[in-house]
Amino acid sequence: MNHREIEGTIKKTKSQEWYIALAVEKEDNPFISNNRDKVGMDLGINKYAVLSDGSIIQNKHISKADRTKLKRLQRIISRRKKGSHKRRKAVLNYARKYEHTARIREDWLHKLSYNLVNSYSFIAYEELKVANMMKNHHLARSIGEESWGNFINYLQYKAESAGCVVVGVNPKDTSKTCSECGNIQDMLLSERTFHCQKCGMSKDRDLNASINILKRATSGQGGSHASGDIVSPSAMKADFVERGTIRVA
Ligand SMILES: [Zn+2]
Repeated sequence: MNHREIEGTIKKTKSQEWYIALAVEKEDNPFISNNRDKVGMDLGINKYAVLSDGSIIQNKHISKADRTKLKRLQRIISRRKKGSHKRRKAVLNYARKYEHTARIREDWLHKLSYNLVNSYSFIAYEELKVANMMKNHHLARSIGEESWGNFINYLQYKAESAGCVVVGVNPKDTSKTCSECGNIQDMLLSERTFHCQKCGMSKDRDLNASINILKRATSGQGGSHASGDIVSPSAMKADFVERGTIRVA
C-alpha cells in the first residue's frame, strides 16, 4: 500500500465555522477537446454575461430580503456596547448571515462555470476588463458583487478536465468595433445597440462585443461562431440561461 503525505490548511471563518482545504496531485492526462462550439463572452453588470451565440446569463443579485436582513444585523451591532457579550453575539450573527449569502453566490458561480466549460470547447473573455472597471468608483460596488475574478478562476480550473479551453483577450475597442466589417466608432456607455456607420449593421451592444472577443481569440482558427448573425439555440443546459433572447432595438 502506498502512503502519501497529504498537505492541507485549516481555516476558521468569522462565524466560527471550520474549513479544511486539501491539496491533491492530479495525473497529467493529454487534453481531449469536448468538440463543442467556440464562444466569446462579454461580462456585464445587469446581464452577467452575453455570449456570441446569443445566450444571455442574467445576474443573480443578493436578494432584497437578504440585503435588508444584513443591514438590520449591522444596525444591531452598532447599538451594542463595545466589548460587551451582546455585541460579540451580534457580530457573530452578522458574520453567519454574511457568509451564508456569500456561499449562495459562490454556489451559483460554481454551477455557472461548470455548465459553461461543459457546453463549449473554447471560451474567450476580456482579460483586463475587471481591473479597468474597478477603477471606476461609480461601478465598483456593483462590480464587487459580480465577482468576475473568482468566476474566471473557476472557469479556468474546471476547463481542462471538461475538454474546454479558456482564453483571455485584450479588451481594447471590443465594444467600439463593428463585428461585421471591423469599422471602429465611438460608443457611449448608454448606447445599447451598435449601429455601424460604415456598413449599416445593427446589433445588441454586448452581442457585438462578444463576437469581437471570440474573433480576437480565434483569428486564424476555423470553426468559430464569430461570423455574424448567430442567435442559435444555446448549447447551455442550465435554466438560468435565456436562449436566443437578444433583440436588436
Ligand atoms: Zn460595419
